[in-house]
Amino acid sequence: MTKRLVFLGPPGAGKGTIANRIAAKFNLPHISTGDLLRKEVAAETEVGKKAKGEMLRGELVNDELVTAVLRKRLSQGDAAKGFILDGYPRTMKQVELLENALKEIGEKLDVVLHIDASQKTIIKRLSNRRQCKRCGKLYNLVSLPPKNKGRCDVCQGELFQRKDDEQEAIKKRLQAYGQRTKPIISYYKEKGLLREVDCNGEIEENLLNAEEALKGI
Ligand SMILES: [Zn+2]
Repeated sequence: MTKRLVFLGPPGAGKGTIANRIAAKFNLPHISTGDLLRKEVAAETEVGKKAKGEMLRGELVNDELVTAVLRKRLSQGDAAKGFILDGYPRTMKQVELLENALKEIGEKLDVVLHIDASQKTIIKRLSNRRQCKRCGKLYNLVSLPPKNKGRCDVCQGELFQRKDDEQEAIKKRLQAYGQRTKPIISYYKEKGLLREVDCNGEIEENLLNAEEALKGI
């Protein structure tokens, strides 16, 4: 059976890790628009050059640009059996663009999983976050440390702590995330696609919660 899933969640809720594990379990491609864009940046493609500034500042990349990158990925053979989208859609415009893209191939989403955690949990996790100066890849000193201290596994770039990973900045980001995502959550809820997962615990516990929430798909 085809499974077309979207994973939504604030920074620091553990969405990427959970998406990875669920993808392996269901044998679905884990499609992270952040990873796709970072590849474009690293390869210095036209798209990469356009997206680089926004990505390094931690800002949202233009809706049309990120959707074009996603559509290219969805047209690859392995996505025909389904996928897990991670980091997309992030705006109502993207919700609409995704719906259109799926409609064109006669498909629609099956489930939107909302992966959430409290502000306290998120601040604790994000203060351990580091980012590669060169390619933008994210690490966590506790849950996803680099193989070599202070160096990126992918490109050997230097790791640093982003200004926006400091406590006050995290609170502001969560607020902005909440405002941006609220209409998306309501939209999917109304369509009967939304399922919620509490991710305040340790990773293994959160994974079990996520699997439970996806039962029956
Ligand atoms: Zn790197």
